[in-house]
Amino acid sequence: MKYSVGGVITGKKAHACGGNTWTVVRTGADIKLKCNTCGRCIFVSTEQADKITKTYKEAENKQ
Ligand SMILES: [Zn+2]
Repeated sequence: MKYSVGGVITGKKAHACGGNTWTVVRTGADIKLKCNTCGRCIFVSTEQADKITKTYKEAENKQ
């Protein structure tokens, strides 16, 4: 899966806060995800991101 900034991931597993959607805030070797429910950020590898992703939605205002 290719991720881009602003994309939204719906996870297979809920975060500790109960939310399961994440916004991609940075890409690269590691991907930085921000929890849409509690606002916390986590870093995951692309492999880990693929594991937690159920659905992925590209940013609507892609430039
Ligand atoms: Zn959270």
